[in-house]
Amino acid sequence: MSTLRTPRELVDNGLIAPEGLAGIERVAGRYAIAISPAMADLIDKADPSDPIALQFVPQTAELATTPQEREDPIGDLAHSPVEGIVHRYPDRVLLKAVHVCPVYCRFCFRREMVGPQGLGTLTPDALDRAFAYIAEHSEIWEVILTGGDPLVLSPRRLSELMQRLAVIDHVKIVRFHTRVPVVEPERIDGSLIAALKASGKTTYVALHANHPRELTPVARKACARLVDSGIVMLGQSVLLKGINDDPETLAALMRALVETRIKPYYLHHPDLAPGTSHFRVSLEEGRTLVAGLRGRISGLCQPTYVLDIPGGYGKAVIAPDTVSERGGCYTISDFRGGEHTYPPEA
Ligand code: SF4
Repeated sequence: MSTLRTPRELVDNGLIAPEGLAGIERVAGRYAIAISPAMADLIDKADPSDPIALQFVPQTAELATTPQEREDPIGDLAHSPVEGIVHRYPDRVLLKAVHVCPVYCRFCFRREMVGPQGLGTLTPDALDRAFAYIAEHSEIWEVILTGGDPLVLSPRRLSELMQRLAVIDHVKIVRFHTRVPVVEPERIDGSLIAALKASGKTTYVALHANHPRELTPVARKACARLVDSGIVMLGQSVLLKGINDDPETLAALMRALVETRIKPYYLHHPDLAPGTSHFRVSLEEGRTLVAGLRGRISGLCQPTYVLDIPGGYGKAVIAPDTVSERGGCYTISDFRGGEHTYPPEA
């Protein structure tokens, strides 16, 4: 089987009903579709609420856009000094070399930029300008390759990018944001891993995974190859209605990541991307779910729950409300809801 890219292929593979074809054709006219063989195989077609299907199989609900939703929900464009670079925080930049992904997530926060109709791949000239920007800004300590999914590039292209970063002394950390180890684990071979490394740089790979079933034995093996090679892995997940918005699934996801030697990093509140309201939980629901992880499962499994403030203002941590102050005395809530005075009375 190859990657499924058209509504007709989704019908032929039993992922949408024939009578739904016309509606999904309309969705396909607006947003890219791709379901890799590994993800198509993982879908339980007998389950109408299958959490893997919900992530990748388009629905007509995507045609409904709410007034709050926006094409650039996290404000990349407001912080893009040159094409392909987003410089939102002082010490790091995003380098978006490619806007193609091996799968297209239905809740994608960059859905207006990625896909065959998206922003494409940076031209050699644009890439030169992006690297010149990084070289000219000595405050850039970390470069985050994202997009799109940078691991769709060939090892040769990835190696070229790394070699260009290798000669910029002030860049110490190179981070890749990817779904590939889960959705196309067969790509993680020796030549790709070698291409992710460069002398004098520390490589991090942040894996995007949202449901514990994504961490299949094959995906875990691909991640193990990366970690065994000395690459540090982090987990990034999106809190998604119907997919992982219950305490058991979230706990199982975080544990699956830690078992795979991936430290849960961010749990993202879903962004206001167009046609994604059916995936959004409220901030209050998110806070309650994240508070429920505290104490219940190991500290290793605790992600930081964050919201990208619409408009490009960066991430805000949505912390559980555990501390209140009155007259110089603090009241601290424990994970069971008990309240304690700090400092304790003598
Ligand atoms: S892999 Fe990332 S960039 Fe690509 S569709 Fe999914 S969320 Fe969007």
